Amino acid sequence: MHPQLPGSKRCGCKNRREPDRANSPKHEKCIRNCRKARDADAGVAPAPPPRFVNAKEQSMPDIKSMTIEELTELMTSMGEKPFRARQLFGWMHEKRVRTYDEMSNLPGVLRNTLAGEYPLLTVRKVQVQESGRGDTRKYLFELYDGNMIESVWMRHRHGISVCISSQVGCRMGCRFCASTLDGCVRNLTASEMLEQIYEIQRLTGERVSHVDVMGSGEPLDNYDTLIRWLRLVSCPEGIQISQRNITVSTCGLVPQIRKLAQEKYGITLAISLHAPDDELRRELMPVANRYSVDELISACREYFAVTGRRISFEYSLIAGKNDSQEHAAKLAGLLKGMNCHVNLIPVNPVRERGYRRSKAPEVRNFQLKLEKYGINVTIRREMGADIDGACGQLRKRYRDEQNCK
Ligand code: SAH
Repeated sequence: MHPQLPGSKRCGCKNRREPDRANSPKHEKCIRNCRKARDADAGVAPAPPPRFVNAKEQSMPDIKSMTIEELTELMTSMGEKPFRARQLFGWMHEKRVRTYDEMSNLPGVLRNTLAGEYPLLTVRKVQVQESGRGDTRKYLFELYDGNMIESVWMRHRHGISVCISSQVGCRMGCRFCASTLDGCVRNLTASEMLEQIYEIQRLTGERVSHVDVMGSGEPLDNYDTLIRWLRLVSCPEGIQISQRNITVSTCGLVPQIRKLAQEKYGITLAISLHAPDDELRRELMPVANRYSVDELISACREYFAVTGRRISFEYSLIAGKNDSQEHAAKLAGLLKGMNCHVNLIPVNPVRERGYRRSKAPEVRNFQLKLEKYGINVTIRREMGADIDGACGQLRKRYRDEQNCK
């Protein structure tokens, strides 16, 4: 047992200090003990233990990730009428109930069989941070296996948007990003991507109209799941988020961008560009060693030609690094003649990274320079800068404080 000493930050667990053992079952026990000790110390009721799913359950199909066609096959194989599939799908994705008990028009025997063999997994809220203005909330959710992810809720004039994660951590290694500090633990499933939206809607009681896949993880590095999720999240029998209101952000995996174009979805593709040339991009984003800026831009042009959807470029401004007038001019040259939009984001400082955000005049001048060249550009409204706003910051802080997953 490795109890956390009251008030101390580290539990002293030897498994923690040996990275290759950090995910061992022994360490999982330690995580639970650390959490209990912390909660007792803070005088709060201990959270129910995370559901550690055994090997048998893990090898079971994830029912909430199944399409209606797959559910129809399942129902038939169980000797049920095919129409049960639509009923089941509606309960999971339109009404979004948490248990089989609530599925009142399904026969009791079917409900019991399903409950025994196909667990309905949800995400569990561990922490919420709300911004001072009240228009942004950051949720830390725990998955069935004890892993943690972040999702962000934002109120805009045009509706409510939720920014979801696609992986636990990330392996892309962008130098300014907190999500990638400890690498990628695992891909999320389609249902875990959906549940972030469902649970936030359950908690807030307000309809989510827009979804951005811009939280932790690289969605195109979890490609098949992303496609499955896109089908489920936008289908008329489910939560029905319009594809026009979905943005998928990528650091620029060129082959997957080309593949995604061929799927011909009506979503917006956002590209995290952050630098106008290879040399600087390689310094900031290891993915630039695999694909040059020219290759990336040509994949974007193809994406637009095939889908007719305007590309959005994300450009995080880092003081003294990529925010000069020369950088702006170079960027304008790169995007010349392209139907696109540039989003400028003053970088969110992450303690471990040491980058500073550009000052307001530099940001404004960068915008003006791009506009002079006829580029559509906006400065992203700062939401949640006071609440560990950048990708992966909340999870990172929570894990450091608790010494856990
Ligand atoms: N992997 C995907 C999506 C996740 S990151 C991608 O790279 O696009 C979502 C966006 O936030 C990306 O544009 C990313 O570069 C940016 N980002 C990450 N950390 C940031 C930080 N500290 N400050 C500003 N933007 C950041």
